[in-house]
Amino acid sequence: MIIIKFGGTSVQNEEAIGRVISIVRGRLSEKPLVVVSALARVTRLLCSIAEEAEAQREDSVKDLLRQLRERHFNLAGNLLAGRPDLLDRCLKDVEGLISSLETFVGGVCLLGELSARSEARIISTGELLSSTIISYAFNANGISCHWIDARRMITTDDNYLNARPDMDVTEANIKRIVGLEYRGADLVLTQGFVASTDKGATSVLGFEGSDYSAAIFGMALGAERVEIWTDVDGIRSADPRVIGDTRKIDVISYEEAAEMAAMGARVLHPLTIEPARKKNIPILVLNSTNPSCDGTLVIRGDQSPDGPKSVAFKEDVLFIKVISPKLDGVTRMLGKVFASLYPRRIPVTLAKATESEVFLVMPEERVALQDALDEIGKWADVTVYRDKAFISVVGRNIVGFEGLGDKVISVSGKVHLANVSANMMSENFVIDRDRLQVTMESLHDYIFKTGA
Ligand code: ASP
Ligand code: MG
Repeated sequence: MIIIKFGGTSVQNEEAIGRVISIVRGRLSEKPLVVVSALARVTRLLCSIAEEAEAQREDSVKDLLRQLRERHFNLAGNLLAGRPDLLDRCLKDVEGLISSLETFVGGVCLLGELSARSEARIISTGELLSSTIISYAFNANGISCHWIDARRMITTDDNYLNARPDMDVTEANIKRIVGLEYRGADLVLTQGFVASTDKGATSVLGFEGSDYSAAIFGMALGAERVEIWTDVDGIRSADPRVIGDTRKIDVISYEEAAEMAAMGARVLHPLTIEPARKKNIPILVLNSTNPSCDGTLVIRGDQSPDGPKSVAFKEDVLFIKVISPKLDGVTRMLGKVFASLYPRRIPVTLAKATESEVFLVMPEERVALQDALDEIGKWADVTVYRDKAFISVVGRNIVGFEGLGDKVISVSGKVHLANVSANMMSENFVIDRDRLQVTMESLHDYIFKTGA
């Protein structure tokens, strides 16, 4: 079996879904489980519906629901124009989903209250709608496709918007249900992102979570590979919105891809790697608008080359120095600082310590951060530096690649902190934010064009 996952832009309209059908048709002999996201921008639209309902802005809710209905009705109408019988059934299913959403949102509007549980219920509708229409489109094109509700398979905790699966239960469900549904079908299809708690309430796996769903299905089914289809030619050496001339990464290890995600690159959902690595299932990142490009292969480290793969960044980080008047020692210093940060769940990107100092890099301001810093301020001098950026060059054995530090210093003017990660998977720098763009550009240029 293989898993083929299509993101929102890969299913955004009639032409895109036409490409999806031909990509899948060429792979039927490999027994695919197709996983789809909501149509592009629909999850965002649903989030707005939830927010507007909470704010009890009824007219705005109505208008947004109308947009949702129109988009899906038009799409189904276009895709199934030649099959009025299927179109009729499809529109009934779509209408069923939307009117049940309408009733639910009406309740939220009336109460003016939106719980995480209600929000998950609302935003899961995007995948239920897209998968329903796409399933009919396969059938209309002579591919017998069985639609499966992912909520029957992925069982999670009740952290509704960022739910974590119970892998044992989930794996057993997936094996059983996919096995059953495959009988008499050329293809089975389900939703990414969507899951349910063990009590049967809808939950979702966090934004961009469809990749994670695909990896979970892949692990449970022992798939030969997991294909993630997007709209760029594989994983890039940097974010193409920041660097004009990026390169495609041909092969990258699970660990490097995970490090890239952790360091701010928007590649795969960060949790995607783990299930695939566990069973050693290759992930292929491919472009549905250019299917002949061979994309990026994510595999085991001993099968992928060393050296820099990408330059990632995080904008607007805080750089914090904690200096103790005493020589407390590293253990005590870190222990005391994290005793204030951890209970408030303040995320830290990087921490470095000496006998009397701790340096921290973290995302911009969290509500509880000031409290934590005030607490630390009782025993140490705390200085917060704003408008900093974090750059990370990711690649196995990155220290073997010379000149990165010199380059960053010479372009950025000032490096506040330089660090090689303990797994030797990334070399990281904190610089002034207003030097981020030029530093990214010349670092990328140095590594990938003039580099060794
Ligand atoms: N539709 C969800 C989102 O936009 C999940 C996904 O596409 O991965 O976040
Ligand atoms: Mg995505």
